Amino acid sequence: MQDAALKEIPDGYQKKFIHIDMDSFFVSVELLDAPHLRSCPVAVGGTAAERGVISTANYIARQYGVKSGIATATAYRLCPELVLLPVRFEAYEAVTRKLDSIFRRYTDKIEFLSLDEASLDVSGQTQFNGSATYMAAHIRKAIEQELHLTASAGVAPLKYLAKIASEVNKPDGMFVIRPPEVKEFLAELDIRKIPGVGPKTYSVLENLGCSRCGDVTEDKIPSLMRNLGVHGFYVWERCQGVEEKEEKESDVKSLGVEKTLPIDCNDFPSCSKELFDLLKNLENRLPEINDNSFIVKNLVKLKFSDFSTSSAEAPATRICQDTVISLCRTLWDTKRKGRPVRLIGLSIKVKRKANDSQQMELPW
Ligand SMILES: [Mg+2]
Repeated sequence: MQDAALKEIPDGYQKKFIHIDMDSFFVSVELLDAPHLRSCPVAVGGTAAERGVISTANYIARQYGVKSGIATATAYRLCPELVLLPVRFEAYEAVTRKLDSIFRRYTDKIEFLSLDEASLDVSGQTQFNGSATYMAAHIRKAIEQELHLTASAGVAPLKYLAKIASEVNKPDGMFVIRPPEVKEFLAELDIRKIPGVGPKTYSVLENLGCSRCGDVTEDKIPSLMRNLGVHGFYVWERCQGVEEKEEKESDVKSLGVEKTLPIDCNDFPSCSKELFDLLKNLENRLPEINDNSFIVKNLVKLKFSDFSTSSAEAPATRICQDTVISLCRTLWDTKRKGRPVRLIGLSIKVKRKANDSQQMELPW
């Protein structure tokens, strides 16, 4: 049973993202008006007298340990010759508007994360024969020639990976993760790079033996679920190179079985016994999935005596007994609220393999 219908997640990603992140943006904009300060440690921020903090520091100041978020008073202790300039948001916003007009030459699917950072979806764009790598290089060149500023870029088939890639060769560099390289890149990636993995989540993951994305294997799902709840699935997905939002719902189908119990059930052991029977029934139906599809999720549904229903799902590439039992236990503990269970449902979500002939023919 353990290996029933274990089908590989293909690397046939359909999308192309470019992440652009300006290098020490606020300071770089200020230095356009003060070129004589280029060889000095410079930062933008509030004054020490006003208990201000550093907003951005140039790379010279960073060598002294001056960085975003530290108190300006501390920054002066680290680097007494620091040149501190006040924050001028209007000046930075004006440059951001120019950046936006450069991006619009390539796509109108632009999402700014802040004044100096944006994610561009260039899937299906035809410039440079569809090559996101060339588009990113040209965007960086345009920023340099027209705005006299430098940017770092990341290119990848997933939005969050493009962001991570933009940091690899920062400043003034770029890094490309092509679809066949996603798995290899993730295997060694420090899990703290995944957006949403802060110190709290990391300490849980570390206890589970996960410090790199490659450590988050499928057998960890039940313990991730116990320790992090839904967030655990999110982490698992990102570690596998999956970004749920990018999937089209129409590509996801489900196959399920359910049973109305002969008498309403009030104890977990009887409930899980019924669940085991359903597991076997569902496995018998696996041949109904066609070869062009693969399993992405397990889902458990409980209907209570008052006919209300709750369900829970988790990522899985097969019908996983441990995952299914954990899902049932979660529903039992958190949603049942003392009501007897009337019906149990078990299903898998199945996704069609990407059509390789579309985007993937185009160069990266
Ligand atoms: Mg930046």
